[in-house]
Amino acid sequence: MADLVSHPDEVKVVSQRFGKGAAAMDRYLELDGYKAVQKALASGPEWIINEMKASNLRGRGGAGFPTGMKWSFVPKESAKPKYVLCNGDESEPGTCKDRLILEHDPHAVIEGVMIAALAVGAKTGFIYIRGEYRYLVDIMRKAIAEAYARGFLGKNIFGSGVDLDVRWHTGAGAYEVGEESALMESLEGKRGIPRIRPPFPAVVGLWGGPTVINNVETLASVPHVILGGGEWYAKLGTPKNGGTRLFCLSGHVQKPGVYELPLGYNLRKMIDDVGGGIWKGHKLKAVVPGGSSVPILKADEIDLAMDFDTLMKAGTFLGSGGVIVLDDHTCIVKFCLRTTKFYQHESCGWCIPCREGTDWMKKTLVRFHAGGGIKRDIDNLNYLAENMLGRTFCPLGDAAAMPVIGMIKKFREEFEAHLEGRPCPFEEHGAAVEQLPVLA
Ligand code: SF4
Repeated sequence: MADLVSHPDEVKVVSQRFGKGAAAMDRYLELDGYKAVQKALASGPEWIINEMKASNLRGRGGAGFPTGMKWSFVPKESAKPKYVLCNGDESEPGTCKDRLILEHDPHAVIEGVMIAALAVGAKTGFIYIRGEYRYLVDIMRKAIAEAYARGFLGKNIFGSGVDLDVRWHTGAGAYEVGEESALMESLEGKRGIPRIRPPFPAVVGLWGGPTVINNVETLASVPHVILGGGEWYAKLGTPKNGGTRLFCLSGHVQKPGVYELPLGYNLRKMIDDVGGGIWKGHKLKAVVPGGSSVPILKADEIDLAMDFDTLMKAGTFLGSGGVIVLDDHTCIVKFCLRTTKFYQHESCGWCIPCREGTDWMKKTLVRFHAGGGIKRDIDNLNYLAENMLGRTFCPLGDAAAMPVIGMIKKFREEFEAHLEGRPCPFEEHGAAVEQLPVLA
């Protein structure tokens, strides 16, 4: 069970039922549960999609695509069954928000899936939970069973004449499966590697049928949008960036945790006020603002409104909401190595730039951090990463390349400080230089 934190600046929408026992059906019903889906049933698909568009709710998984627009791409008529797929394969380092929703408010996720299904005319929804979150599967399984027992799922839901099934599914533990087309492959029982797109899932998705795929937080926000209205939700955030989101504040802050703040909340304030400032009296060095795959920001670059558009203008991304804070005792080269190791390990190996690029970057950084770096390593690392960008089947290649490019660009002097056998200035590692190859 994850600990809950709170701060007066929070605006609790999607987290409003956390810690209130809402995983149990009766408690969820006391807290306005399943009212939104009944309102959606009474209002019809067009009304639902219009409210979603008005809400400016953008995907909380990382890409930030407008949810209402995504739903509107699903064809009204389809010879094949349509589906809704909830992406609970939360794996981006620094991100741990979906697990809180699945743990504390599983019925909100089910209700969100149901409303999405009503909007696009799907009869089946799936909730895919990452393998490492196995303890959450029991919570979700129980919640779905309760919903069937009450007649909220199955035949003729709420006496409406509509049939709707929702099922849970668990993965085997692969970051790659968080990519939507790999997620579909995995759910279909195949190896979780991406599909070539187009066609996109809204047209050709699960088993060839049109499929809406949304993140857990996105879908858990949907009932609130439907009950409060799209306009109300949009006003909580900034223009084109509606609502609130769960920010996972981690790293060298005094009070790490998952905080729900309006989109547009200032990043510096998030660290200083919400997170209580940098720990141990240290100073801020850098922030990775959207999960480990996004470009890093230096300490003097963080007076930013945390929304999708502002961060993109600043050369980075809001991503999955994982805000990783680094203090001035952090070795950026080591951080770069740690990040690269993760992506190298998770690369599915299908495309050469990602498979070979992540491996060479890792080998180079291991040797480099251990004191065996030579001058051309820095440019070689950058060259490798630049040649991965946009040249892979799925975004994992970019996810591995962007942090390396960003860290070299902003902390080049720190890479240079490790050159020619000089020990890491930040630690007494004393490690022998690993005998790993040098890229020509
Ligand atoms: Fe696999 Fe990497 Fe290519 Fe994605 S980018 S398909 S993870 S090899």
